[in-house]
Amino acid sequence: MKAGDGKLKAESRKRKVDSGEWFLAFLLSESLKTHVTFTLTAQINTRMKFHFFSIIGVVAVVTFAMCSTSPGEIRMVVEHRYLVFDMVQTESEEPEEPFGNTFYSEVDVIEAGATESSEAPGSQAEKVVLESGDGAYKITLDTTEAPDLTEWAQKEVGPMAVEWYPKLVKMLPSEGYEAPAAFSIIISTNANGVAATGGTRIRCAAKWFRANLKGEAVGAVFHEIVHVVQQYGRARRANPNATRTPGWLQEGIPDYIRWFIYEPRTHGAEITNRNLARAKYDASYRISANFLNWAVLKYDKELVQKLNASLRQGKYLDDQWKDYTGHTVQELGDEWRAEIEKKLGSAGAG
Ligand SMILES: [Zn+2]
Repeated sequence: MKAGDGKLKAESRKRKVDSGEWFLAFLLSESLKTHVTFTLTAQINTRMKFHFFSIIGVVAVVTFAMCSTSPGEIRMVVEHRYLVFDMVQTESEEPEEPFGNTFYSEVDVIEAGATESSEAPGSQAEKVVLESGDGAYKITLDTTEAPDLTEWAQKEVGPMAVEWYPKLVKMLPSEGYEAPAAFSIIISTNANGVAATGGTRIRCAAKWFRANLKGEAVGAVFHEIVHVVQQYGRARRANPNATRTPGWLQEGIPDYIRWFIYEPRTHGAEITNRNLARAKYDASYRISANFLNWAVLKYDKELVQKLNASLRQGKYLDDQWKDYTGHTVQELGDEWRAEIEKKLGSAGAG
């Protein structure tokens, strides 16, 4: 952020030091000719003098007409071309978080003549926080970047997430593990591919979702929610000796739960003559999901729970398959494939 007027900026900083208060300064440009000058329009204190209220204390000094404020909000109706924010550091004692108590969530600049009621991007309706039935989990659904998907997300994704997240947490326990109490699902216009999860943020690519709304869209979010429950990265951060997490299990487990427990009627993870050539147990995603389902039904009803727990604790080893089923994972993979080939009547294919 650049202050348009060095003097004003200097005054701002001086004031902070003197009073120990914090504010943002809104500077509005009036002249558009050769020299741009800025006028101080408003100062917003983002922290109360006493720290009882951690949210927002707004003190607005507005020099222009038609300005109204409500808690946490300032509205200005002005005729200017440039808007400059001079944000003053709030946490000088904590160098790693210099803006710890400086917040601004949204700035909407609406063109003159726009109707007052027109919803600006980022309005409340496009970002909702849902609570699971037992109140234990909070799920943020954010379609700010793709408002055309708001209705779909709130109708289809929200109820699924609220219903299934607590179920998934129960389905995939491990000793001492507490699943994240909150996570967000963000439909993003910047994301590529389908969707990805980092920690407790699921980012879905708006473009792909628009093209798949009637197809696999909701199930794709379901898959990502399983990643939020998995949290296999935690073991690695806590334990430098954590074993490697095989990618095919990290992706195969969410697809197993998706295709065989959440939406079995869609038969989305079947092996047919079309994909038989790729049917290797560690081919990941829905092929590995098919293998896991087969192994669960044939050898061990708790197999996925056991694998998940050891993966999350950073203790997974291929040898564990032998403990759980009496066979190595390679033997199981061969047996699974032979059964499929027999069923499809195309032994030796691929
Ligand atoms: Zn995945």
